[in-house]
Amino acid sequence: MIMQNLQKAFQAIDRPVKTFGVVFGDQLNLDSDVFEHLQADCDALLMMEVLGESNTPVSSWQRSTLFLSAMRHFANGVAQDWRLRYFPITQKLASFIAGLEQVLQEQQALNNRPEFVAVLPGDYQVKQAIDSFVIAQNLVWTWLADNHFISQQGEFAQWLKGRKQPRMEYYYRQLRQRTGYLMSQVNGKALPAGGNWNYDKENRKSFGKNGPENLPKFSKFIDDESVRQVVQALQQLHDSGDLSLAGNPQSVLGDRSEYLWPVTREQALQVLQTFVSERLAKFGDYQDAMWRNEPWLYHSWISSSLNLKLLNPREVIAAALAVYEQGGAPINAVEGFIRQILGWREYVRGLYWSYRDQWLQMNALQANRDLPSFYWNGQTQMHCLSQSLDQVLRYGYGHHIQRLMVTGLFALLYGVKPKQVHEWYLGMYVDAVAWVEVPNTIGMSQFADGGIVGSKPYIASGAYIQKMSNYCQNCRYDPKVAVGDKACPMTTLYWDFIARHEALLNGHPRLGMQWRNWSNKKPEQQSAIRQRAQWLFDNIEVV
Ligand code: FAD
Ligand code: SF4
Repeated sequence: MIMQNLQKAFQAIDRPVKTFGVVFGDQLNLDSDVFEHLQADCDALLMMEVLGESNTPVSSWQRSTLFLSAMRHFANGVAQDWRLRYFPITQKLASFIAGLEQVLQEQQALNNRPEFVAVLPGDYQVKQAIDSFVIAQNLVWTWLADNHFISQQGEFAQWLKGRKQPRMEYYYRQLRQRTGYLMSQVNGKALPAGGNWNYDKENRKSFGKNGPENLPKFSKFIDDESVRQVVQALQQLHDSGDLSLAGNPQSVLGDRSEYLWPVTREQALQVLQTFVSERLAKFGDYQDAMWRNEPWLYHSWISSSLNLKLLNPREVIAAALAVYEQGGAPINAVEGFIRQILGWREYVRGLYWSYRDQWLQMNALQANRDLPSFYWNGQTQMHCLSQSLDQVLRYGYGHHIQRLMVTGLFALLYGVKPKQVHEWYLGMYVDAVAWVEVPNTIGMSQFADGGIVGSKPYIASGAYIQKMSNYCQNCRYDPKVAVGDKACPMTTLYWDFIARHEALLNGHPRLGMQWRNWSNKKPEQQSAIRQRAQWLFDNIEVV
C-alpha cells in the first residue's frame, strides 16, 4: 500500500511540535530549504488539501487530480522520515487559514504553541492571508527564499530598477551570462553559442499541407493508487455538492486507469527524458504550429512538473544541453527551449512579484464583457476554439500558441474582463499557479497591464490561425472574410479591435501598420465590419 504512511498523518499529531515546516501544494521538492530548518525529533511537516482552492476559482478535474495526487505521493514519501500533519480534501478545509487554526487548536490541547517556517508561496494572495493571520495571532512565522528558481534573491528587482520598459530578452541574456548556459568562450570573451542570442525567426514554421509526420507517442502512467483515491474523493465531494469541478471526470482516468500527468519525480524525469530524446530536435521549428486533433506535437509537457517542483529548471536545461552537445538537436531548438525556461519562466515570475496585488486590478483596455459559456463546454462553431477548448477540458493542456493566439486572442478581441479570463486560465490548466499564470494571462495575452510584460497586444486576424494550423479547413467560417454569414469572428473582431483602440495603435512603432490597413479601408467597408462585430457581441453564444 503506497499510501500507508499517509493515513496516519490524517490525524492530529499527539505530541507538542516545536516548529511546523509548511509545504504548499506546489512545493514538492526534497531539496527545499524548509528541511534545513527542521529537526526530525521535535519538528513536523504540515500539508493541506484545501477544498476552497479547488472551488475558487473553479478548478478542472485534471488540475485538482494532479495537484492532490502529486501532494499525496510526496507526503507519503516524507512521512517515512518526518512527523506529518496532512489534511485530505475530504476534511473540507475552506481555506489554508482554517487549517492553521485547527493545527493551533490541536497543539493548544497539548499546552503548546508551535512556530512555523515555509518557503514563499507561488500566490501573493496566499502570502497576504497568512501574513495577516500571523499578525492577528502573534505567531512566529519565518518565510524562506525559494531556491527552486535560477534567479537569485533580489536579482530581478535589481535588474528592473530604473528600467522604463523591461523586456524578457535582456533579463534572459543577463541570466545566460551569469549561469554560462549556452555561452562559448571566444578569445577570452563569453559569446552566445552559435553566434546569436536568439533564433526566433527560425522557430515559426507551420507543418505544411501534410501536417506533422511521425509524431512520437504520448506516454501515460497506468494504475496509480493515489490518482484513483483522489478521483474517488473528488467524485464524492462533487456528488454531495461540496465541490464543483470543470471539465469531465471521465477524461481524468481512461478505460485502463491511465493517467496523463506525472505525479512523482520519477515519472516527471521520464517525461523529461522522452522529450529531450524524441521531440526536442523539432521543438524549435514547430514551436508555434498547431494541428487538428494533435494537442501535444513537439512540446515538452513538463510545465506541471516544473511548477509542482518535481523537476528543477537547472536539470531540465542540463538535459537539453547534453543532447545539444552530443549533436542530437540543433541550436535553434535548444536555444528556443532554454529561452522558455531560463527566459520567460524566470522573467514572468520576477514581474509577478514586482506588481503583486496590482495585477488583478489591471484593465488597460477597459474590457468589460463576460467570458462566453463555450469556454466551459467547448460548444462553438469556431473550429480553432472548439479544438483548443476541447483539449483543455479533456487534458488541462494547451500549448503556448493555442493559449496566446486562440483562446487568449479571442478573449482579447472580444473584450472579456481580464479577471474572468485569469480565473479561467488559473482553474483549467494543470500547470496553473498564480506566479506564472497571472502575468501570462493578464499581461502577455490580454494586455491589461498596458505594456509591462510585452510592448504590444498580441492581435491577429483569422489569417494567422490559417497560416499556423489546419483548423480553418474544418471550419464553417472563412478566415479571409470579415462580413456576412461566412465571416470569421476572429477576423471581424480583429478589425473592430483596431477601430476601438485607435489611440493605442495609431502611431505605435510596431502596430502602426495595422492601424493604417484599417484606415485605408473605405468607410462603407469599415461600417459593415463594425456592424458585423456588433452582431457578434449580441449573439456570441450561437457563433
Ligand atoms: P513547452 O512549449 O515545451 O515549453 C517548455 C517550458 O517553458 C514550459 O514547460 C514552461 O515551463 C516554460 N514556458 C514556456 N513559455 C512560458 C511562459 N510564457 N511563461 C513561463 N514559462 C514558460 N505556463 C505555466 O507554466 N503555467 C500557466 O499557468 C501558464 N499560463 C499561461 C497563460 C497564457 C494566457 C499563456 C499565453 C501562457 C501561459 N503559460 C503558462 C506559458 C506556456 O503556455 C506554458 O508554460 C506551456 O504551454 C506549457 O506546455 P509545455 O510544458 O509543453 O511547454
Ligand atoms: Fe478560427 Fe476563423 Fe479559422 Fe474558423 S475560420 S478556424 S474561426 S480562424
